[in-house]
Amino acid sequence: MASPTLVASRVMTTNPASAPGGSTTVATVVAAMQEWYPPVWAEDWDRVGLVVGEPAAPVGRILLAVDCVPETVEQAVDLGADMMVVHHPLLLRGVHSVATTTYKGAVVHRLIRSGIALLVAHTNADVASPGVGDALATRLGLVELRTPRPDERHPMRVGRLPQARPLAELAGYVAERLPATAVGVRVAGDPSREVRTIAVVGGAGDTFLAEASAAGVDAFLTADLRHHPASEHLAGGGPALLDAPHWATERPWLDALAVQLRTSLSIDTIVSDVVTDVWTVHAPSRAEKERP
Ligand SMILES: [Zn+2]
Repeated sequence: MASPTLVASRVMTTNPASAPGGSTTVATVVAAMQEWYPPVWAEDWDRVGLVVGEPAAPVGRILLAVDCVPETVEQAVDLGADMMVVHHPLLLRGVHSVATTTYKGAVVHRLIRSGIALLVAHTNADVASPGVGDALATRLGLVELRTPRPDERHPMRVGRLPQARPLAELAGYVAERLPATAVGVRVAGDPSREVRTIAVVGGAGDTFLAEASAAGVDAFLTADLRHHPASEHLAGGGPALLDAPHWATERPWLDALAVQLRTSLSIDTIVSDVVTDVWTVHAPSRAEKERP
């Protein structure tokens, strides 16, 4: 988990006037989310669904965030949210205590004492359509979106840039379009390589390198790439790589989901701008500083 930085702007798209009369409950939100992101679509190791909350409790305002961490929970409390919908599971592995002396126990207590329910949609949202990948691809302006395997749910989206760009220039384009983080975007491959088609996977996409090669695209954008798999992938003639901050690749989905929740359930939705990406500082290297 991160030590998140609070970005300067915490101005949200709130509209208190639209707060409902209390007809929406935690159960209503869970039912809608289950319809859009069936829990059976989640990976076996994943833990999705309602983590904290009473089904009959009324919901007027939801805070959406990538991570349920003390900083986003405090934001939910400040904003008077009744529920948080997040991407990453708070409790993934077995726990034997939620005492406040533990990091996650303190979070659970803060949620319960503040009357805030918590719902997780993770790998079930990754493979949904529309889902995390569609929101990321749309944010990058990709068109003609498809999944690599027709008739199969998959977190990868393949699309075309409206106009081809050299890889180095594409990195700047991507960095500008994605939500701002301290680190920005790293690129692997020939900087002058012309890129027209891209595969994207939100979050850690290390395991999809071979699939990106098979998709026949010019570049693959994901997060959390590592030296050896990336270097072997490039040596094997695979697409160029763009390594983006994990949080930034998943954050666009929250905007799409916020609209969907707001219009379907007539509730107030707010997307958290607390940057929970783990990397908080990027110091330019000497080569970077000396570049003309
Ligand atoms: Zn993730």
